[in-house]
Amino acid sequence: MQLIEELRLQAQARGAAFCRVADLTALPRRQARGYRRGVVLGFALGDAQDFAEGELRADRAADAIEVWLRAQHYDALSQSERSMAQHAMFDAETRSSLLPHKTLAVLAGLGWIGRNNLLVTESLGCRLTLSTVLTNAPLPADHARESPNRCGSCMVCVRACPVGALSGQTWAQGKRREDIVDVEACRLCLRCMQVCPINPKKLP
Ligand code: SF4
Ligand code: SF4
Repeated sequence: MQLIEELRLQAQARGAAFCRVADLTALPRRQARGYRRGVVLGFALGDAQDFAEGELRADRAADAIEVWLRAQHYDALSQSERSMAQHAMFDAETRSSLLPHKTLAVLAGLGWIGRNNLLVTESLGCRLTLSTVLTNAPLPADHARESPNRCGSCMVCVRACPVGALSGQTWAQGKRREDIVDVEACRLCLRCMQVCPINPKKLP
């Protein structure tokens, strides 16, 4: 069995709804930390499911995939919360990382960043949690074309935000996060995630 197939089985066994591979070779070396590939794991989030619990599950899966890749003799680095703290990859004050999961997901062609500053995918909308693993394993990258932004004229999430933290701007390469969301004002209530009309009525 090819490495990519084994990887997908490993991800599936840990509950991932999808497992994609982003090509990091065009990114600045400092941002990619010398890694050539980014494995993106996505986990469906049910309405009643606690987001924090979903994030924990995604983080655990990324740590397990790192261990598995290392056992196959490939360098790998999980971008779980634990690992990012350990490797000084996350700035707690600005709540930002050098290489966000969302950036990797867009590079892997999974979807677009909505006006709510969340990844929006065709299959799960924005009801998902992500985790990522950087690696030099010889995995074929998903060379999907960049997904078009389908927010269109929708402003549902912007209007739903109880503190007016969303500016209404849409994401584009090079745009600063601050132009889209006021992180200091955001209460992490996830209302902007719940109301997105692209979310499926039922999870697949
Ligand atoms: S999580 Fe809540 S407070 Fe933050 S941007 Fe979304 S709706 Fe607004
Ligand atoms: S609610 Fe509308 S504007 Fe917000 S992310 Fe979803 S589609 Fe885009």
